[in-house]
Amino acid sequence: AAKASGRNCAKLFDPNDPQSSDESENIAALLKIAIDQNLVSMVYQPIRNLSSGRIDAAEALMRLKMLDGTSVPPSLFIPIAERTGAILELGRWAVKTVCKEVLANSLVPVASVNVSPIQLKTPGFAASIAAVLGETGVAGGRLAFEITEGLEMEMNSDILRCISDLKMLGIRIWLDDFGTGFAGLSWLRLIDFDTVKIDRSFLHDCNTERGKAMLQDIISLVRNRGHKILVEGVETDSQLSLMHKFRIDQVQGYHVGRPEPAARFRTSVIESAVTVRTSKPARL
Ligand code: C2E
Ligand code: MG
Ligand code: MG
Ligand code: MG
Repeated sequence: AAKASGRNCAKLFDPNDPQSSDESENIAALLKIAIDQNLVSMVYQPIRNLSSGRIDAAEALMRLKMLDGTSVPPSLFIPIAERTGAILELGRWAVKTVCKEVLANSLVPVASVNVSPIQLKTPGFAASIAAVLGETGVAGGRLAFEITEGLEMEMNSDILRCISDLKMLGIRIWLDDFGTGFAGLSWLRLIDFDTVKIDRSFLHDCNTERGKAMLQDIISLVRNRGHKILVEGVETDSQLSLMHKFRIDQVQGYHVGRPEPAARFRTSVIESAVTVRTSKPARL
């Protein structure tokens, strides 16, 4: 199933393995030259709106290649980029690339970009995003920032101020991987997320009544608080029909489409629009 972490990828990081710490130093060095050497790129995974049937958003995901062409999975390089601070420049580059590749060309109405707490804590982050919007001519309302519910991040007043500055630019704030940490519930009290992304681990349990009931409870909780709901990791027909039954707003997963570079993403979205039966021609 996890093809992404398969053969062409660097092995998983193990801090107790001396070879891994060499590897992590190599990756730290690579990250410094990655933008200049074209070693980083963005791929886009479609998000389908279940009431219209259309692809109405895409999540942007970062990819990194080593000099020999091997890919390094984000689960390995993102934590290193956060630790070294490289995430600041990479993050800015990511937003600019997403604006240019998919938003300025109107490939999709909204693109979401994952942001690290390190970025939210950095003074001037919102201003740097405002500058990217100005440069690329993209309206803030077309961007969403995904914040992952993680253990490490405490929601302090600097982060809350940053989020409110981003909202003032029109940027939507989404809560990612909801249900995987301890923080999510308290964040729901503090932040008015536009959309909550339910972690894909909840879908795995959906073949049992107990698992299904659990997912239903989470959905009611999120919905009753007025957030839109996106379920991640939809892989099968039966999962998709369950999502229709639960009246989920948006779905994302291999069943909808895999992450692809902008050019191929464009073709996939056009093909998918053709298969949606609507009276009006699809606007792209
Ligand atoms: P995420 O934000 O939760 O992204 C979803 C991950 O699930 C992606 O993995 C995606 O390829 C994978 N996925 C999507 N649909 C399915 C499915 O149906 N089944 C399965 N098994 N997997 C699916 P990816 O691209 O390896 O990214 C992993 C994580 O790395 C992301 O999780 C995100 O937390 C982080 N990440 C990726 N790009 C960026 C970035 O530009 N900046 C930051 N800060 N973090 C990033
Ligand atoms: Mg995400
Ligand atoms: Mg996620
Ligand atoms: Mg995740």
